Amino acid sequence: CGIVGVTGKKNTVEILINGLEKLEYRGYDSAGIFVDNQTGEDYLVKEAGRISNLKSAIDDNIHGTAGIGHTRWATHGVPSKFNAHPHVSEDGRFYLVHNGVITNFSELKAQYLKDVNFVSETDTEVVVQLIGYFANEENLTAKQAFKKVLSLLEGSSYAFLMMDREEPETLFVAKNKSPLLIGVGDGFNVVCSDAMAMLKETHDFIELMDGEMVVVKPGSIEIENKNGEAVSRDSYHVEMDD
Ligand code: GLU
Repeated sequence: CGIVGVTGKKNTVEILINGLEKLEYRGYDSAGIFVDNQTGEDYLVKEAGRISNLKSAIDDNIHGTAGIGHTRWATHGVPSKFNAHPHVSEDGRFYLVHNGVITNFSELKAQYLKDVNFVSETDTEVVVQLIGYFANEENLTAKQAFKKVLSLLEGSSYAFLMMDREEPETLFVAKNKSPLLIGVGDGFNVVCSDAMAMLKETHDFIELMDGEMVVVKPGSIEIENKNGEAVSRDSYHVEMDD
């Protein structure tokens, strides 16, 4: 239901939780975050129910320099901790949050992922497992694997935000028929499904169009259209107060 992400700040956990709280009014049944903790350890926390449950499960010593967060409104699989996002590829490399519905997830699962152990019942987990599958099987980079999987999701609705533990400063972003924006900062950038979530960090946003994918780093935002062509688009300024 809601998505937030940040790269290039030193208080990632705080920014993600604040953003998720700003999105609470939209309704949700569970929430989660993944943060790169720069210790080589995963830091993934998910809880069913309120953001306050998630908050109390988070270790105060974790801050992180890049991360993603999600509030879920279940469409495939019951509301639960296991079905909450972020979802993770079997090898623990890719982390993904998603708003929307993957219409052909069972076909894709049957075609490519017969040998994968799934931990959730969601359509979303199929996407992150596929990214892991193609990265390993075809020796693709994160970006190549992400794009390949996007090309297989025809007709689906999605706002995606993905991280690769081998490239911990990068956020991989894509959108089709679900809202998603890039927030522009000085030495950092954010991603959100609603500008409200990030007004504390920035008031400058770049709108994304359906079918676009974006590679976001602390100092750069690279947008590509469906045909792989670079797109440049100015940001717009949001006057609203935090
Ligand atoms: N279809 C996904 C799920 O059921 C995403 C739901 C959402 O947009 O929050 O987990």
